[in-house]
Amino acid sequence: MSKRDYYQVLGVERNASGQDVKKAYRRIAMKFHPDRNSDDPMAEEKFKEAAEAYEILSDGEKREAYDRFGHAGVDPQAGGGFGGGSFSDIFGDVFGDIFGGGGGRSRGPQRGADLRYNLGISLENAVRGTTIKIKIPALVNCDECDGSGSKKGSAPIICGTCDGSGHVRMQQGFFAVQQTCPTCRGNGRIISDPCGKCRGQGRVEKQKNLSVKVPPGVDTGDRIRLSGEGEASPDGGAAGDLYVEIAVEDHAIFERDGRHLYCEVPITIVDAALGGDLEVPTLDGRVKLKIPAETQTGKLFRLRNKGVKPVRGGPVGDLLCRVVVETPVKLTRAQKELLEELQLSFQGDGDKHSPRKTTWFDGVKRFFDDMKS
Ligand SMILES: [Zn+2]
Ligand SMILES: [Zn+2]
Repeated sequence: MSKRDYYQVLGVERNASGQDVKKAYRRIAMKFHPDRNSDDPMAEEKFKEAAEAYEILSDGEKREAYDRFGHAGVDPQAGGGFGGGSFSDIFGDVFGDIFGGGGGRSRGPQRGADLRYNLGISLENAVRGTTIKIKIPALVNCDECDGSGSKKGSAPIICGTCDGSGHVRMQQGFFAVQQTCPTCRGNGRIISDPCGKCRGQGRVEKQKNLSVKVPPGVDTGDRIRLSGEGEASPDGGAAGDLYVEIAVEDHAIFERDGRHLYCEVPITIVDAALGGDLEVPTLDGRVKLKIPAETQTGKLFRLRNKGVKPVRGGPVGDLLCRVVVETPVKLTRAQKELLEELQLSFQGDGDKHSPRKTTWFDGVKRFFDDMKS
């Protein structure tokens, strides 16, 4: 299913402010809220679509990724926690000030944050696959306290305010509202004697050396997930994942469009007129390309299976060579005379040698004749 543009979903301009995005989402969410539209099955879809658009556009980092890479940049499958979170969380965020109180986030250990790393690679490496070593700064579990944040020999104590549940209930008018515990900020536990190395954070910053296996056929925007190589959890939960996002660099000869490659091959007027064998480059070396006599500039020659084998499978692409006839330069006197002689020899043959030029000039003449009449 192809997704609609998030800006279009919310009906805002691409440069809309955070406030405008929020306002637009609130309006749509109110209108299509499933509770109000139980007889309209499309409403829930619209509601979810708007919630997703809001999730991305209200988050500076995700919005930037979306602006740059489109939906591929914020693929819910590829982290950011979108897939896991229910839209009620987003709902709570926006409607919090209407209904009072934030939504109750699930307790228990928090998963570490996912990280993204932008990896630029050459076209050859993208097509053939490679292994690349990268260094990333990351928060890792503190080895001193084993990630607990408490000094050796001490343990976190259960928060007295919320009895370890991480949230408190408050009465506001008719509503009983659940709020994150202000004392332990939702952790349920308080570190009474913090570890000296990580100052109670349980995590320290460290440069990590990683080896990224890039499979053959990747393209710009593809992401490689390194499970558990993201940030460590702040409270002993699972580490996040690292997403290595591929950006294929421009190539001097080839241009890539999915599984196909394009290149331009200059040819002389003589080869173009008489035909001949050309050497054209492919990613696996040079191959011979036979061009027929009377080849015009711009003609595309397709070399089957000389493109890219897509990383997600499917047929190998083609290499499309576009020939461009090059006008000869720096001619000697003798060469010029040969061309003049050639030109003279065309006279008297009518439009035989340049049919396109003749039809074109006829068209121009008609155009001006029509203007006069
Ligand atoms: Zn520590
Ligand atoms: Zn508490």
